[in-house]
Amino acid sequence: MSEQVEQREFQAEARQLLQLMVHSIYSNKDSFLRELISNASDALDKLRLEAFLNKDLDVDTSDLHIEVDIDAGASEATGTERAARTLTIRDNGIGMSRDEVVDLIGTLAKSGTAELRKKLGETNKASDAEELIGQFGIGFYSTFMVADAVELLTRKAGESAATRWESSGDGTYTIANVDDAPQGTSVTLHLKPEDADDELHDYTAPWKIRELVKKYSDFISWPIRMEVEKTTPAAEEGGEPTVTVETETINSRTALWAKPKSEVSDEEYAQFYKHVAHAWDEPLEVIAMKAEGTFEYQALLFIPSMAPFDLFNRDGHSGVQLYVKRVFIMGDCDELVPEYLRFVKGVVDAQDMSLNVSREMLQQDRQIKVIRRSLTKKVLSAVKDLQANRSDAYETFWTQFGRVFKEGLISDADNRDMVLRLSSFASTFSDQVPTTLADYVGRMKDDQTQIFYATGESRQLLERSPHLEAFKAKGYEVLLLTDPVDEVWVESVPEFDGKTLQSVAKGEVDLGASDEPADETAHGDFAELLTWLQETLDEHVKEVRLSTRLTSSPACLITDTFGITPQLARMYRASGQEVPVGKRILELNPDHPLVTGLRQALTDPAHRDGLAETAELLYGTALLAEGGVLDDPARFAALLADRLARTV
Ligand code: ADP
Ligand code: MG
Repeated sequence: MSEQVEQREFQAEARQLLQLMVHSIYSNKDSFLRELISNASDALDKLRLEAFLNKDLDVDTSDLHIEVDIDAGASEATGTERAARTLTIRDNGIGMSRDEVVDLIGTLAKSGTAELRKKLGETNKASDAEELIGQFGIGFYSTFMVADAVELLTRKAGESAATRWESSGDGTYTIANVDDAPQGTSVTLHLKPEDADDELHDYTAPWKIRELVKKYSDFISWPIRMEVEKTTPAAEEGGEPTVTVETETINSRTALWAKPKSEVSDEEYAQFYKHVAHAWDEPLEVIAMKAEGTFEYQALLFIPSMAPFDLFNRDGHSGVQLYVKRVFIMGDCDELVPEYLRFVKGVVDAQDMSLNVSREMLQQDRQIKVIRRSLTKKVLSAVKDLQANRSDAYETFWTQFGRVFKEGLISDADNRDMVLRLSSFASTFSDQVPTTLADYVGRMKDDQTQIFYATGESRQLLERSPHLEAFKAKGYEVLLLTDPVDEVWVESVPEFDGKTLQSVAKGEVDLGASDEPADETAHGDFAELLTWLQETLDEHVKEVRLSTRLTSSPACLITDTFGITPQLARMYRASGQEVPVGKRILELNPDHPLVTGLRQALTDPAHRDGLAETAELLYGTALLAEGGVLDDPARFAALLADRLARTV
């Protein structure tokens, strides 16, 4: 039967990423081997599991392994044209169907491709590309760093038809149905010429392969085999040496999580991390633990140093794999760590659990619950350690994962205090480094009893918001919370260290003794203005009162102590929840000329004309100043234009 060869294009992002690979932007080219072996190992894990769960699957799983085949090509000494130098990585794992090849190899199946596209568009420096690759991780495509052409032949377990895929890393690939192929996958690289300057090594040298496997893939639990020629010197003088071919297993296959931490090097941990996490960055922290007693298990977890693209994706999964007695059971085991620690990667190996365990069963499993609780504690204490002893690493952690970590303030009531203690927040104290709450409390003024914070869209907006004026004037530090999650957690965290958390835009604030004694009589005079404004703006505000928060703005809007802030209401609405529109409180600055002028005008019937419009403008201005959204911007603009026209 003739093969139907079909030519197809890579998906746009895939093509761009490939270009980065082809143009050798990444410095460590050796990593392609780790990626291929990692994929082969995953495929073997999947097949073993599939065969276990599906007894009808007619596959031989008695000798699951990975093979590395070297073909150095015809030697130059023969004078013949140099045959292609190839390297083949073969596994007898799960394999792929034709559709899977198209989906998995022809496109970037990972979530977060939209962000990737944006970043790719912005990338023009090699260092950016390295970072991009670190964040996204490049699996199979890394082969194009070392190969001019790549051929993949695969047959899925249980299917008879096989698929051949080929590409030279340009925009296209070919795909064809093949009648006959061994079950599993082989990837053949047509190697680029060796180029020592470019760190492109001779990957047909057995010693090099051995070295790389040792370095990158030694812990892989499946045997990695390579055929090597052994030359035995001739037995007698003048005789021919004998050359035999032997198969060597070139990895030691030790489960790193079963070894004490002292016996594993940082490099070994780092490579293992890259394998389990499908990552290209370095781990920030390694957490090895061993539990004995009722539930025995070992865990090897990593805190990455770079957030992946899909960290904020709703269907983004945790990266912890579950093993039972060294047998891979499932990846992305969300039950093992809480969602706010979903950046943690690694392996949990349980001793007494059914190999048959399903995701549904896991949710009920008591042992899993126990493991999850201790893993959580262990990760938190690792973060605590970073915070106390490795401030650079803590800073990296916070920049990369802080936004996710803070979700724990909402979802993990048991560990809330700890999560709060380990969190950092931007504050008016410094525009460079965020502060912990402990440090904030340490800097509190003598008369200060509360921790002040402001929530909003950006630091800039908050810093200029009228709400902050008096706090600034009196030198009180204010936390500037600008992540969407901040709006939510502040509602569920009442205090820290006995100090209540107080929004600068909510309720009444106690700013300590005023520097100037309040002019009671003067303020008493505002009664008429306050009542009149309340009536005039009844549609918009539920109360009008004098403020202690303002120094330069005429007015600001305040949410009730237990009310929902407009930002939070917007977030709820964005997620489809109904939220009633709560009216807010308008606070006036009694020292502002606009406010005193209004009071004055009110007493004079001749000036009453147009005062209601001034009130509306006052309200609209307060809303705009805090970055709020006007109900009727056109009306506001018309009122303002009219007013301005009278002053020019
Ligand atoms: P990742 O491993 O991070 O998913 P890769 O680019 O390395 O990304 O691989 C993409 C996908 O292709 C894998 O998730 C897997 O489904 C499939 N794949 C790659 N290599 C193999 C293989 N040897 N056997 C079966 N499937 C494979
Ligand atoms: Mg991979």
